Amino acid sequence: MNGPTESRTDSPFRSIYEPRIHSAVVTAARRLGPGMARITFSGPDLRDYPTTDRGDEYVRLFFHEGNEARLPVVVERGWQFTDGIEPAPARVYTIRKYSPGEIEIDFVVHEGGIGAAWAMQAQPGQVLGINAPHGLYERPPAAVRQVLVADEPGLPAALRIAEQTADQVPTTLVLEVRGHAHRLFADVERGRVDYVWLCGTGNGQTPSQLGEVLRRQSIDQGTYVWVATEGRLNRAIRKYLRHELKLPASHYKCVAYWQEKAEVWNARYEELGTDFQDKLSALWADRERDSEEIIDEVQRLYEVAGL
Ligand SMILES: Cc1cc2nc3c(=O)[nH]c(=O)nc-3n(C[C@H](O)[C@H](O)[C@H](O)COP(=O)(O)OP(=O)(O)OC[C@H]3O[C@@H](n4cnc5c(N)ncnc54)[C@H](O)[C@@H]3O)c2cc1C
Repeated sequence: MNGPTESRTDSPFRSIYEPRIHSAVVTAARRLGPGMARITFSGPDLRDYPTTDRGDEYVRLFFHEGNEARLPVVVERGWQFTDGIEPAPARVYTIRKYSPGEIEIDFVVHEGGIGAAWAMQAQPGQVLGINAPHGLYERPPAAVRQVLVADEPGLPAALRIAEQTADQVPTTLVLEVRGHAHRLFADVERGRVDYVWLCGTGNGQTPSQLGEVLRRQSIDQGTYVWVATEGRLNRAIRKYLRHELKLPASHYKCVAYWQEKAEVWNARYEELGTDFQDKLSALWADRERDSEEIIDEVQRLYEVAGL
């Protein structure tokens, strides 16, 4: 997942950095509001921690028990726990802020969930495993405007993207949160970005309104649209951008960040059995086919299967 050429590190080890799972020590934990916890990580093993410089760079955090890091090792595009090490559950998060040797991550506070529960109790001195980051945001040079769309888990990435790019391109943020107090803002000069807020919908509480609100935005062939939301919602938005607005693939990036009622989704996926899973694997492995067409087909199979 993280080739050495994709990452930058500001340490003297820059030229020899090979991706590994780092040990990250909590140095601060605070609430940004009722729905988000910000945790700061540092420590000797983050000294050469790299960045891709993309605002949505994401990582896997390994939530092992106790304060002694029991890290997996990187194996090709994944990782593996060596014998005798109890595999730790992993979850995906965004690097909200990067500086050499120190990172900040914003965790949505929600019911249930290893990641959310960990963030709520986090204290200085605790240790997590973290892999090297990977970014997806890729605005084409031809884009003269960008629209960043997110519900709460996508908020850290949307805000960091805005902070890094709003001085290069007019930016509209279309954001859905649980209530007014859950709004968070990009650290950019006033007026640099436009906000379209939906407060009190989506986010696992009531049906999302993001799809409808996006339809009221003026999006043309010169707009780059970046979307980080719940899975089914993400599929619907991608369909709108690709098949109704007919945006070229370079002009949208739709990434499912979380799954509403994940337990029900997972149970249905398991129920579909190996035939279904093999079909998906074969589709993803097809190097001859256009990747967006593969996603179309995967998403069609999901819909038919009720996923
Ligand atoms: C590229 C990428 C970047 C991400 N960046 C961030 C980030 O910076 N901050 C962040 O908080 N999340 C982020 N996420 C989303 C995060 O990975 C998921 O929300 C994850 O499910 C959280 O793990 P958990 O252990 O808390 O809950 P899980 O154990 O995965 O799920 C437990 C239950 O909680 C529900 N659930 C999961 N997430 C939410 C939610 N946000 N609101 C309501 N219910 C929920 C599930 O449906 C399930 O019922 C990102 C995801 C991706 C793919």
